[in-house]
Amino acid sequence: MSAALFEALQQLLGASHVQSGEDAVPQLTDKQGSYVGRAVAIVHPADTEQVAAVVRLCVAHQAPIVVQGGNTGLMGAATPDASGRAVLVLLDRLNRVREVDTDNDTFTVEAGCILQNLQDVARNVDRLFPLSLGAEGSCTIGGNLGTNAGGTAVLRYGNTRELTLGLEVVTAEGEIWHGLRGLRKDNTGYDLRDLYIGSEGTLGIITAATLKLFPLPKAQATAFLAFESLAQAVSFLSHARAGFGASLTAFELLTADCLALLREQFPDGPKPFFNAAQPWFALLELSDNHSESHARQSFEEVLGAAFESDLLADALVAESLAQSEALWLLRENMSDAQKRAGRNMKHDISVPISRVVEFVAHTDALLQEHFPGVRNFTFGHLGDGNLHYNVAHPLGSTVEAHMANYAALSALVHDSAHAFGGSISAEHGIGQRKLQMLTHYKSPVELDLMRRIKQALDPKNLLNPGKVLVVGEQGEAP
Ligand SMILES: Cc1cc2nc3c(=O)[nH]c(=O)nc-3n(C[C@H](O)[C@H](O)[C@H](O)COP(=O)(O)OP(=O)(O)OC[C@H]3O[C@@H](n4cnc5c(N)ncnc54)[C@H](O)[C@@H]3O)c2cc1C
Repeated sequence: MSAALFEALQQLLGASHVQSGEDAVPQLTDKQGSYVGRAVAIVHPADTEQVAAVVRLCVAHQAPIVVQGGNTGLMGAATPDASGRAVLVLLDRLNRVREVDTDNDTFTVEAGCILQNLQDVARNVDRLFPLSLGAEGSCTIGGNLGTNAGGTAVLRYGNTRELTLGLEVVTAEGEIWHGLRGLRKDNTGYDLRDLYIGSEGTLGIITAATLKLFPLPKAQATAFLAFESLAQAVSFLSHARAGFGASLTAFELLTADCLALLREQFPDGPKPFFNAAQPWFALLELSDNHSESHARQSFEEVLGAAFESDLLADALVAESLAQSEALWLLRENMSDAQKRAGRNMKHDISVPISRVVEFVAHTDALLQEHFPGVRNFTFGHLGDGNLHYNVAHPLGSTVEAHMANYAALSALVHDSAHAFGGSISAEHGIGQRKLQMLTHYKSPVELDLMRRIKQALDPKNLLNPGKVLVVGEQGEAP
């Protein structure tokens, strides 16, 4: 059966666009090397019609279909299972920009476009496509849509969902939904677009999208701020929102322990406040639509008022683009600094910003009670209530002993986020890594509604099975 499918795929796409899934190709292992899959074939369709034809062939052969973009996702969502029954669909040949409409401030792009290339396309027409994240040089817009990616500018521009006006999707039956509308207002029934965004390839294959463009900011200003406490940082954020309005683009938190780790792992890197006594820091970015001097004046006013109101302990304002980039490097190096220091437990959680202080105090204390000596490296998108609440092994103990506590420690952190009205996955999705957790934390009503949506849009459960939602023989009837 799989040999017949392989041959049919070769006939459809041409032999050079169908690889054997037996090959040990990198696409069959997830980014972090936690999941290794197998596939009947790895296919590279040329356009939307070919994607639809591939899906129809897979349906006829009852073969699961896994779509993959840049394979940078962190939840194992783009890796097929080990059964070897799936067809892995890569959209690298769907990499065209179909239309740039500067009057509508939109562009329509195919799903295989690399995010960084789209940022460049926008800049070339004097516009900003604001989605920006560490993997932007290799992730695709299809993957960004599949995971509803966030990144560093969510505070100002929203997640990928908020940047999207229309989609083109190949359905589980191999039909094409032409939903590439560039409309900012369209109240004509259920929002299919929002169902597909963030569905991690389990409801349909997104082949193109119409996305919002924004004016290129005239000036950007960056400051590195020091706070006496997390509560002070949260109060400052509220003050900064009011003072900067929509210009406030990013507010990224780091702790003193994060700075110490950066100093240890990147001794030649930038060193602002490395000897400061304050325990909390934040990187603030402003995108100003007027001018450099206007941005600077805003900074002076808002930071000055914050000092007077005791909302800020210290501030370093970047004087040049090079200084701004150096400050951002601190934030960008955090993941690598942790990697260099050994494995740790990562938690991509969010809670309402008003509950962040309480959440951190409560969870830090619980951790010390149950796992004495563990070290917190908490950083991330405070402006979105999204923290990378990462926990490393106690000094004097081993990474292995620490990781043996993974299930219990992570459950403690996720239970706590849940109890504070938060999410167990703010940015990275569910994939296969958090499959069982979703079942644990979602209410029966919510799970039932999700299963009914899955059943309606993918009744044979062929689209990325075993990801996001437990269905069929893995759980209740689909
Ligand atoms: C260094 C680094 C930094 C990161 N930073 C962030 C961050 O700041 N914010 C954030 O949100 N995420 C971040 N991520 C994770 C993020 O989800 C991915 O980088 C990116 O959005 C996934 O794109 P991709 O093309 O690699 O998708 P893949 O990893 O290939 O796929 C991810 C999921 O999307 C599905 N998918 C892929 N293409 C399509 C399609 N065309 N239609 C439907 N579904 C599809 C896949 O089936 C899978 O379920 C980071 C990852 C790395 C490695």
